Amino acid sequence: MNVGQYQMRVLVLGAGILGVHTAYFLRQRGFDVTVVDRQPGPALETSFANGSQISVSQSDPWASPAAPLKVLKWLGKEDAPLLFRLKMDPHQWRWGLRFLYECLPSRTEHNTLQAMRLSEYSRRTLQALRKETKIAYDHAEAGIMMIHSTKASFDAAAEGAQLLIRNGERRDVLSVAEAVAIEPALKHTAHTLAGAIYAPHDESGDAFKFTAALAERAAKMGVEFRYGTTIERVEKSGGKVSGVVLKNAKGSRTETADAYVMALGSYSTAMLKHVGVDALVYPAKGYSATLPIVNMPGAPKGSITDDEMKIVFTTIGDRLRIAGTAELNGFDLSLNTVRCEALTKRAKHHFPDLCDWDAVQYWTGLRPATPSNLPIIGRSNLGNLYINTGHGTLGWTEGPGSAKALSDIIAGEMPEVDYAFLNPPSRKISAP
Ligand SMILES: Cc1cc2nc3c(=O)[nH]c(=O)nc-3n(C[C@H](O)[C@H](O)[C@H](O)COP(=O)(O)OP(=O)(O)OC[C@H]3O[C@@H](n4cnc5c(N)ncnc54)[C@H](O)[C@@H]3O)c2cc1C
Repeated sequence: MNVGQYQMRVLVLGAGILGVHTAYFLRQRGFDVTVVDRQPGPALETSFANGSQISVSQSDPWASPAAPLKVLKWLGKEDAPLLFRLKMDPHQWRWGLRFLYECLPSRTEHNTLQAMRLSEYSRRTLQALRKETKIAYDHAEAGIMMIHSTKASFDAAAEGAQLLIRNGERRDVLSVAEAVAIEPALKHTAHTLAGAIYAPHDESGDAFKFTAALAERAAKMGVEFRYGTTIERVEKSGGKVSGVVLKNAKGSRTETADAYVMALGSYSTAMLKHVGVDALVYPAKGYSATLPIVNMPGAPKGSITDDEMKIVFTTIGDRLRIAGTAELNGFDLSLNTVRCEALTKRAKHHFPDLCDWDAVQYWTGLRPATPSNLPIIGRSNLGNLYINTGHGTLGWTEGPGSAKALSDIIAGEMPEVDYAFLNPPSRKISAP
């Protein structure tokens, strides 16, 4: 175990992908780390059953010049891929207005490139972590294929891919025959497709399995995990966080540390607001379905994204994970039957004999979404409060890299990746 030199206690708030990875990298640097979460274990909320994609290829955000019209068209449609349920909530309206601003072409390009850089760095970080820890998490290095049902969407995607290609990412624009040669699982609906964009370097794997195993390793390295503990509020005094009020079965108490990391996903916003820190993160509810695969030779080799329905199909070991849809509807976690069934219906359409369709397990989670889909990573205006949240659709893709970068920032060093961090330090990272 390589534990470095810092004599500082850090309290990490939240044990999702972001909290656990941050704790691991901080401990590796030698910080004294405690993680607090209300659940009985790690990654049991939004990080539990996501689409499993490590998708640098999907760095383009929802907010794009085409989005406003699509969102208007989808208003009130129960099975819409992106559904705004307008509420009397000023935070939702502020988020929506900023989303409109992020739809400007120059913002979309900026946001895509920022996400691409962070995602690429994060993929490399995950690859190194995988080598170092040897964690098994049903991962596949078989790329991600985005399939298109209409020529118009295929042509637009092929043009959009050029931005990432020009910036050094590989994207293969494929005919339907070429796509089926790479992913024979698509043979049943090949006649309905117009083409595909393939990102051969993208990966997939079970985020929950990886994060839970990483938490175990972090605990062995000396990180203390306090599960079943609710964070009631953060307190400040003299321009700094003075403590965090925690509550568990034994009662309430205030816990103090030298530094604090806010990694509470969608719940970060209210917690930060209490100490005067503004974070425009809103919950974007998504759904997944997990099914046992009964016809392994017919399974996708890696992960496939169906652009028309914005649904992801990923083979994770002997299971198919189907995920997608986004609903801006506050913190409601109920399962909407129409949205659940939209997932399995589309999977049956593409892969009719793949799964035991009766053994479906539905799940829903709240993506911590910013209007730009760019996460907030860095030091807040309260000197000892750091933030690692707002990863929206890309929390698994960007998680390991965001966490490593934040551990650099807390150590006072500028991370290796070119990203608009919050209040970054000026010192370059030290040579290994
Ligand atoms: C349907 C769906 C599909 C997705 N697919 C992908 C994908 O394919 N690829 C990808 O990169 N990303 C994907 N994502 C996004 C990704 O899952 C999220 O961005 C990521 O899980 C966010 O992690 P987090 O650690 O920020 O939040 P969380 O996992 O929500 O962690 C926050 C933690 O804080 C704890 N907490 C909250 N409030 C309190 C409190 N008051 N007291 C104590 N503890 C508290 C929670 O228990 C939780 O453990 C998907 C998301 C969804 C919903």
